[in-house]
Amino acid sequence: MTYQSGFVNIIGNPNVGKSTLMNELVGEKLSIITSKAQTTRHRILGIVNGENFQIVFSDTPGIVKPVYKLHDSMMRLVRTAFTDADIILYVTDVVETYDKNNHFLEKLKKSRVPVIVAINKTDLSTREALELRAAEWKTLVPKAATVAVSALYRQNLTLLFDLILEKLPEGPVYYPDDSLTDKPERFFVTEIVREKIFRNYRKEIPYSCEVVIDTFREAEDMIRINAIIYVIRESQKGILIGHQGEMLKKTGIQSRTDIEKFLGKKVYLGLQVKVATDWRNNEKLLKRFGY
Ligand code: GDP
Ligand code: MG
Repeated sequence: MTYQSGFVNIIGNPNVGKSTLMNELVGEKLSIITSKAQTTRHRILGIVNGENFQIVFSDTPGIVKPVYKLHDSMMRLVRTAFTDADIILYVTDVVETYDKNNHFLEKLKKSRVPVIVAINKTDLSTREALELRAAEWKTLVPKAATVAVSALYRQNLTLLFDLILEKLPEGPVYYPDDSLTDKPERFFVTEIVREKIFRNYRKEIPYSCEVVIDTFREAEDMIRINAIIYVIRESQKGILIGHQGEMLKKTGIQSRTDIEKFLGKKVYLGLQVKVATDWRNNEKLLKRFGY
């Protein structure tokens, strides 16, 4: 019996639904999802193990023009994703026009590994518009297989999954066959808190925050976690905490609920806000934060 395995790297512009698609394909909420661009900052693996295959999905940050040093790190991840893939799953949606992808078309055309273009959010489109868009992509990247999906409504995901299996190379497993991801539990805890921050605060606040685990203690029936939210300046501290601590409390409760779901255990979550001046441009801090 042959065994298939490989990396399926998910690439595309911000907000097209890359993280949603990976979570749905993996069947687990690993990557955080918000309606804002540039939520995903790390490379997140989601592993699907089958009887005779292992698919390692890799979710990457959306493609952005670097403004901060943090973005340099994010774009490095995107470049790597183009080079170490066994299959490139390029995600676009029915809303964005193809000229938004100009930058990457050459790379997609020249790709030595199979490219699948997933046109996401079909639920927002009509059949006619979709056919036009699919034809457009066929002309742009003739070698690619094009599939229209709705990650949110799980439309055509089986079709996409089968297409991936069809193109997956033969090879041995990369990770133990019960792995779901490569990152430790505590990483996902910080990501869950970041997701709530993205949802609860406006403008530049979410982009200024980084979440770090201070302590993580597992007891018999409960996990006690203390996390620190770093902001870039003093004035943001008050905004995060909110009037009489209401905002931070809300963020904490929402986070804890999701962390309990993810870890399958009761959780105590303590949140503290601190200032790490301009951490997005500070090499040392970026390193410490895992970028
Ligand atoms: P990413 O930046 O590419 O990772 O995009 P996300 O997965 O974070 O999703 C961005 C936004 O698009 C979120 O508000 C999602 O709920 C939404 N979204 C994702 N997939 C679909 C879809 O199939 N249909 C619709 N209508 N919205 C979607
Ligand atoms: Mg994302």
